Amino acid sequence: MSVEFVNPEFEVIRNDNRCIACRVCERQCANEVHLFDPDRGIILSDESKCVNCQRCVSLCPTRALKIVKNECRLRENANWSDSTIKEIYKQANSGGVLLSSMGNPNPLPVYWDKILINASQVTNPSIDPLREPMETKVFLGKKPDKITRNEDGSLNCELLTQLELSMPVMFSAMSYGSISYNAHASLARASKELGIFYNTGEGGLHEDFYCYGENTIVQVASGRFGVYEDYLEAGAAVEIKMGQGAKPGIGGHLPGAKIVGDVSRTRMIPEGSDAISPAPHHDIYSIEDLRQLVFSLKEATEYKKPIIVKVAAVHNIAAIASGIARSGADIIAIDGFRGGTGAAPTRIRDNVGIPIELALASVDQRLRDEGIRNNVSLVVGGSIRSASDVVKAIALGADACYIATAAVLALGCHLCRTCQTGKCNWGIATQRPELVKRLNPDMGAERLVNLMTAWQHEIKELMGGMGINSIESLRGNRLMLRGIGLTEKELEILGISHAGE
Ligand code: SF4
Ligand code: SF4
Repeated sequence: MSVEFVNPEFEVIRNDNRCIACRVCERQCANEVHLFDPDRGIILSDESKCVNCQRCVSLCPTRALKIVKNECRLRENANWSDSTIKEIYKQANSGGVLLSSMGNPNPLPVYWDKILINASQVTNPSIDPLREPMETKVFLGKKPDKITRNEDGSLNCELLTQLELSMPVMFSAMSYGSISYNAHASLARASKELGIFYNTGEGGLHEDFYCYGENTIVQVASGRFGVYEDYLEAGAAVEIKMGQGAKPGIGGHLPGAKIVGDVSRTRMIPEGSDAISPAPHHDIYSIEDLRQLVFSLKEATEYKKPIIVKVAAVHNIAAIASGIARSGADIIAIDGFRGGTGAAPTRIRDNVGIPIELALASVDQRLRDEGIRNNVSLVVGGSIRSASDVVKAIALGADACYIATAAVLALGCHLCRTCQTGKCNWGIATQRPELVKRLNPDMGAERLVNLMTAWQHEIKELMGGMGINSIESLRGNRLMLRGIGLTEKELEILGISHAGE
């Protein structure tokens, strides 16, 4: 007996006075929620299949549709919520691990919202970004510890290889396979136009996107999918993925059903075979092992490209980062527990890892205390939602931020959180050709450029308000931050004072 669908999560409300039975909703819904009944000439709904992606609502020409949360709940209490009970039913039916996508949705503290930014008043004048120059450019990579001079007395301005970004934001790793060709095309084109970078994730680099190499970070994950000499050569930097915020401690799994055509060729694995990346890199069991891979990749790219090591924010992240900073890596990317993903075991997504705000503050402090902060740049991700989150992250010690969920929202994602099904009605987390073509890569790129341009203006305004005219002066400037409603311990870890102090 299946009791999984006794109570669908959403209700489809169709206004019969407005519905003209045009069947747009039927055609647009890959979940097959809407069905035309030819006998009665009306559209029916199978609400058990609805994921509330809002595609039908957005495209209905007469605005006849509304999707609402189903108020008919199971008899829940403070301990057993409607969704917890349904999860038990699901597992009792399937015997399987629960899968979900996107980031941790639980009501845990969002520290960005408990941190306030300073503004100049009277003695330290603010800067008007419309009239005065503001520098949002950042360079990522190892920096010298001290200023040195050449033999002729001039300043030695030579830096080891760096990534140059027009603003302190990049698009985080999303593999081709987890997202569509058109989504990757949008990210690549926008990165080129903006002078920033996007990241291949662990799925290799489609041959059409080699031309965007100067704005591409190529990833090497435990499965090594699509990794070969030309791939490493193609990117501006190489990222070793040790972990990700949405699923720390486990590998990845792209089902064989999605390994078709170009995805299979790009990953260099046979069609239909599951792409399973193991939890660990089987050649890395210590910082010394990591160092070997860092230097192997440097050798392979003739020491011309920065090496990034990406880790999930976990309990002892400061000690881990200290080891990575000594491994020869140029950049550490830390991914907080709210980071999104195309598919993750629900229990891992919702219970493992720590918030990026606390991880960042403790890593930056530890590297400073150990005198090795300049060995590496820090890039943080895991639910950076706005320009103010970026500014707070920089002031807490980050050099730049990674965004992914915000980027896919710009592409049209409606956060229905069912990427793992491969039926994304917005053409993003899917490989089905009829769905992929719904995302126009030119429009996608334009929307990403608009989003980043807007954030850049806001970053300049926030910096100007503080009387700061460059990201460099903001980085690690925790005096510009105050906490609100935080405990002594939280303030101590964040290294900031309470509002009013
Ligand atoms: S798209 Fe709107 S008008 Fe067309 S059939 Fe569906 S509900 Fe009716
Ligand atoms: S990418 Fe698509 S499937 Fe995933 S949450 Fe967004 S709209 Fe839903």
